[in-house]
Amino acid sequence: MGGGGSFPYNNAFRSEIFLDSEPQRILFIDKGSYGSYEDASVKVPFWEKARHSFADTRGGKRYFRSFLCPKGKDRNVSCRACTMQYEENDQRVSTRRMKYFPVISLEWWYKTTNKYGDENFVRPKTPAEKRRLEAEGAEPVFGRHGYIALGNGHFSQLMDIVDTVASQCINCMEPGKKPSKLFPASYSCGACETVLEDLETTSLSGDELKSYPYRKHKCSACGNHDLPVVNHECSACDDPKPAELFDVVLPLAKRGENTSSTIMVPPGEDVTFIDHTELDPQIGILFDGENFNPAIAPMYEALDFEKIFEVELRVDYQDVRVF
Ligand SMILES: [Zn+2]
Ligand SMILES: [Zn+2]
Ligand SMILES: [Zn+2]
Repeated sequence: MGGGGSFPYNNAFRSEIFLDSEPQRILFIDKGSYGSYEDASVKVPFWEKARHSFADTRGGKRYFRSFLCPKGKDRNVSCRACTMQYEENDQRVSTRRMKYFPVISLEWWYKTTNKYGDENFVRPKTPAEKRRLEAEGAEPVFGRHGYIALGNGHFSQLMDIVDTVASQCINCMEPGKKPSKLFPASYSCGACETVLEDLETTSLSGDELKSYPYRKHKCSACGNHDLPVVNHECSACDDPKPAELFDVVLPLAKRGENTSSTIMVPPGEDVTFIDHTELDPQIGILFDGENFNPAIAPMYEALDFEKIFEVELRVDYQDVRVF
C-alpha cells in the first residue's frame, strides 16, 4: 500500500446520472465520438470499457469494489485484476463491458457544493425531500450534464427503444400528429451504392439482421469495407428519414431488482421529438429548429471520459484502492 495518503480522489461517480423507477427525461448528446471497443476506427456515440468487480470478505464483512480495467485491448498495459481472473482463475474477480453515454437529464435538480468545490446533485423524490433541500440552501437547477453507464443487458434494451424511434420518419412529421412508419428496405455500400442485402430477398436470420447495420461489410463490387448505408421506405413520403436517438427525448426509467433490472420507457410515458418537447413552463421548448434552449445549450457538449476516469485508469489504482 504505497502512497495512499497522497493518492488522488476518484471523482468519476459525481458525473454519473442514475436511472431509477421514476421516469427521467434523458437527452442523448450527439457530439461525443469515441472509438469503439472492438475497432477504434469505428466511431460510436459512447465510450466503452471493461469494468472489473472484486468481491471478497474482510474482517467478517463483505468487501466489494468496482473499477475500470486500464488494459482494454492494449496488451502492453498490465492489469492486476485481469491477471487474477484470467491467469490465476481467481473467482473473486469478474468483468463486464460498460458503455458510457454523455447525456443531459432534463429535470429539476438540487445542487450543493462542498468545501472542496465538488458539486453534488440530488433529484428530490417527495415534496418533503424538496422542502428539506430548499431549507438546506440547495440551489434548484434545471438540467444536469453527465453520463449514464449501461451494461450489455441495459444497452440492448436501449437499442430496442432506439429501433422504435428509428421506425418513425422525421421528414414528414408534424406536431400533434403521429409520425409515419418507416421500414428498412435494403443495405447498400456507402462507396458505390451496390445493394449488399435486400430485405425482401435476404436469407439472413433475424439476429443477423439486427446486428447487420452495426458491422463492417466488404462490398463485392468495389471492395470497400465499411458500415452499410441503410435505405428506408416511408409509408407517407418519398424522402424518408429515420429519427435518431438524438432527435428525441426519452422518459427513461430503470425498474426491477439489480441484476434483472430493465431500462424502459414506462407505459403511459411518451417519447417526444426535441422540437416538440416543452421542458417546463418557465423554461420553454427544448429545441427551436436551430438552437437548443439557452438553459440547456451550454450542457450540450461531449464528455472527456479519459479525464473523468483518469484516477481509476491509473495502473496503480488497484494496488492503492482495491487490493
Ligand atoms: Zn483488467
Ligand atoms: Zn461498393
Ligand atoms: Zn416520411
